Amino acid sequence: MAAIEMRNIVKKYGDGFPAVNDVSIDVEDGEFMILVGPSGCGKSTLLRMIVGLEDITSGDMVIGGKRVNALAPRDRNLAMVFQNYALYPHLSVFENIAFPLRLAGRPESEVESKVRDASKTLELDEHLQRKPGNLSGGQRQRVAMGRAIVRDADAFLFDEPLSNLDAKLRGQMRTEIARLQKRLGITTVYVTHDQTEAMTLGDRVAVLRRGVLQQLATPRELYTQPVNLFVAGFIGSPPMNFLPAQVNGDQLELPFGSVTLPKDKAAKAEGRGVIIAGIRPEHFNDAAVLDAQTKAKGATFTAHVDVVEWLGHEAYAYVPFEASPDVADQLAELERDLDGESIRTQLVIGLDANSTIAKGEDAEIWVDSSEVHLFDPATGENLT
Ligand code: ATP
Repeated sequence: MAAIEMRNIVKKYGDGFPAVNDVSIDVEDGEFMILVGPSGCGKSTLLRMIVGLEDITSGDMVIGGKRVNALAPRDRNLAMVFQNYALYPHLSVFENIAFPLRLAGRPESEVESKVRDASKTLELDEHLQRKPGNLSGGQRQRVAMGRAIVRDADAFLFDEPLSNLDAKLRGQMRTEIARLQKRLGITTVYVTHDQTEAMTLGDRVAVLRRGVLQQLATPRELYTQPVNLFVAGFIGSPPMNFLPAQVNGDQLELPFGSVTLPKDKAAKAEGRGVIIAGIRPEHFNDAAVLDAQTKAKGATFTAHVDVVEWLGHEAYAYVPFEASPDVADQLAELERDLDGESIRTQLVIGLDANSTIAKGEDAEIWVDSSEVHLFDPATGENLT
């Protein structure tokens, strides 16, 4: 196993804008690192540079303490698991797993013992004689991982391995990959555009936008302390609400009314004119379901709810509002990156499942003012 250090990595295709722009990421030995971001952010290019499938324009790629920029892929001892698993349909599970050992001309006894060990770890021992076509998606994924395990690779690299699967299987495979990675303790770099995968799998997550590393942190830090509008909008589902706002004293003026902020938070945005307030749906609630003590920790306002979605364990209320021209440009750009979520014109409010708020109602909504983020509209930087 090995640590992977990316130092000031740049990738340019032709004369264009760099696909990867001065990215430095240290993946610790045994760590599960996620590279996440919207389409075109450079995450696959970065992964391909780790494996050696893409030349590095400048910077250093260091694996296990050794600079590998000029090393061919086969000399890097890394195992890549692709989206389609790249299994051979005519070979049995045993032979698919054994493939890299056969290629390396290893003796039969070694092939036998390594494949048996790997298939035990992966709980594939009962399926060794079957062909990939007769396996479930999850089992195929494990065969692909088995092939990586028998090679004693220094690290696993995954490029969107679950994106072809349906939602249910994706959830199962996610758990399975997480479990296996922990059991094997192998350094892993995993590329995805799906923030849920990133949050549930990663020890740490590197969020990329347009080739630039935005934030490298644990899932919890990304969620609670996003450094800018982009990370705040990308991480979390449904996404954070962004509202034009102004701070006067300790009052945050929102399109629906004003909210009292904790003093230290208010001080960070006082006198800045129009800023962007970011509040996650789950930091709102139906004021009617809360006890007095909880209610006192936040502020309430009245909002006209036009749609309610009830999901059993929670519900969401939607409140339309006028897009503000002051912050329209920044939010329109963010919407493009977030794949068309309409964050400019509606507020999404999380409700307890026992809330009785109905569509068409003017409802009393509570907001947890300690959870409000304030962003500089020019730079997108989180001021709080
Ligand atoms: P996706 O999720 O869509 O695969 P990504 O985040 O993995 O996107 P990359 O595939 O790494 O992004 O691409 C980053 C940028 O580099 C994009 O703008 C892409 O168009 C460009 N790019 C990628 N490969 C090439 C290439 N071979 N030649 C020219 N430009 C490329």
